[in-house]
Amino acid sequence: MPKRAIIVGAGAGGLSAAVDLAAAGWEVDVFETNAEPGGKMHQRRVGEVGIDGGPTVFTMHWVFDELFKRAGAVFDNRVRLTESRRLARHAWTDGSHLDLFHDIDQSAQAIADFSDERNAQGYRRFCDDGELVHNLLRDNFMATSQPSPIRLGYRLLRDGGLRSLAVAPHRSLWNALGNYFSDPRLRQLYGRYATYVGSSPLSTPSTLMLIAHVERQGVWCVDGGMRALAHAMADLATEHGARFHFESPVRKINCTNGRATGITLSSGKSVSADAIIFNGDAAALSNGLLGDDVLKSTRIRERQARGLSAITWCINATTSGFELDHHNVFFASDYEREFTTIFKSRSVCNEPTVYVCAQDRVNNMHITDGKERLLLLINAPADGDHGAWTRPKLEQQRRSALSVLTRCGLNLDFAEEDCVTTSPDNWHQRFPGSGGSLYGAASHGMFSSFSRPSSGTRIKGLYLAGGSAHPGPGVPMATLSGSIAARHIQHDAA
Ligand SMILES: Cc1cc2nc3c(=O)[nH]c(=O)nc-3n(C[C@H](O)[C@H](O)[C@H](O)COP(=O)(O)OP(=O)(O)OC[C@H]3O[C@@H](n4cnc5c(N)ncnc54)[C@H](O)[C@@H]3O)c2cc1C
Repeated sequence: MPKRAIIVGAGAGGLSAAVDLAAAGWEVDVFETNAEPGGKMHQRRVGEVGIDGGPTVFTMHWVFDELFKRAGAVFDNRVRLTESRRLARHAWTDGSHLDLFHDIDQSAQAIADFSDERNAQGYRRFCDDGELVHNLLRDNFMATSQPSPIRLGYRLLRDGGLRSLAVAPHRSLWNALGNYFSDPRLRQLYGRYATYVGSSPLSTPSTLMLIAHVERQGVWCVDGGMRALAHAMADLATEHGARFHFESPVRKINCTNGRATGITLSSGKSVSADAIIFNGDAAALSNGLLGDDVLKSTRIRERQARGLSAITWCINATTSGFELDHHNVFFASDYEREFTTIFKSRSVCNEPTVYVCAQDRVNNMHITDGKERLLLLINAPADGDHGAWTRPKLEQQRRSALSVLTRCGLNLDFAEEDCVTTSPDNWHQRFPGSGGSLYGAASHGMFSSFSRPSSGTRIKGLYLAGGSAHPGPGVPMATLSGSIAARHIQHDAA
């Protein structure tokens, strides 16, 4: 008799777990609140068009190659990608611009022209150190199910020697960046990578410079948006027999004799299984949202420990004054203040840095002549369960964001009905237990990466997958977490 697994949630982690378990011969049922797979990989309807409202930067192609290969498929045959020649276009309110590329020489030349030769050399050292950290952590941290700081420290010294001390995680990324860049704009640019894991560059360990290395290895645009990736993963799992139950919220995870044995849906129907993977935010379990049986399965996450939330605007607009690329960042002048405002004052700066994804553009090709699909994003505190953002407050925040764009040279023209806003309280509703955090806990402090819950919980038979669990947030990392959970389950069942 095949073993049966239930997966609660069809986000990246739930989907990869479904692929791996179904391909390994398990009977898999996935229960998802929404009407389609993807979770944060989703599109918002804005008038006539769909605009990606979640992740837009697709990296770590190898994670998907390996996942699809394990299930007997070729990823590139299922998902059409276009490699972006430029990593991103960056602009500042003083009128300066910088484009960065995969190629280190090309970026170093761009930095020398933008700043000076010393900063270009600092960039080359930054790339070397980022690669070192990445190579040390890829197998010793990301791919392991339960990383330990002692074992990792030993391996870093064994494999990286004294050089690994140069990028030791006791310093903050912000602090470490000062050693590479004297130009404050470059420190700001590379500090921004901390936000990819929902964190402040002022508090996140310097090892997170590896994110810039990951991006240098390639950034792709997914044809049909990131939801196409989610659908391809769901289709692959279905081909191996997994069953998806959409619009089926799970109300309770049930235990018998201290072991997770099944779920009860909001409809009242109960289903039993040998193993259960929870792909929602792990904090939903300790908040009691999945019932008392699993209340103690994970540690409580304090509000202060949450990673970043965001305010986003999906806009169908005409643009002028600035030649957008697919990924664009418009920096406000005081980056430190942005993060102290969010994490200490728990508010949003009135001059925020704005990310703009121009979804109809890639490699100088502009697919539409008139309106184009944009996602605007600013960081915000994850206090979505501590009061809603009112309409006037959101309008004020949008004016502030648009004013940063205008000062950088970009003008947007759009009708009110062509703009859909999502605030931290909306994110909290969509991802229960999260407070609106899009990335689980913030990676603040040297040991933060080790305090993320791993795939196993304190309750036998209950496992975690997703961005709030090890190895962390981001589509590829959440995908890895699902595969780690699937391996853990198979190991326990053997
Ligand atoms: C605006 C935004 C921008 C981002 N940008 C990027 C980016 O550019 N690149 C990148 O790699 N990452 C980015 N991320 C992060 C990335 O999207 C996430 O880390 C990743 O998608 C999380 O996947 P997950 O497995 O945790 O599942 P999630 O996407 O969190 O999905 C969990 C699913 O579980 C379901 N669920 C929860 N509870 C229940 C229940 N009780 N019953 C049934 N179903 C339930 C939910 O409905 C949801 O569908 C971004 C995220 C956002 C929101």
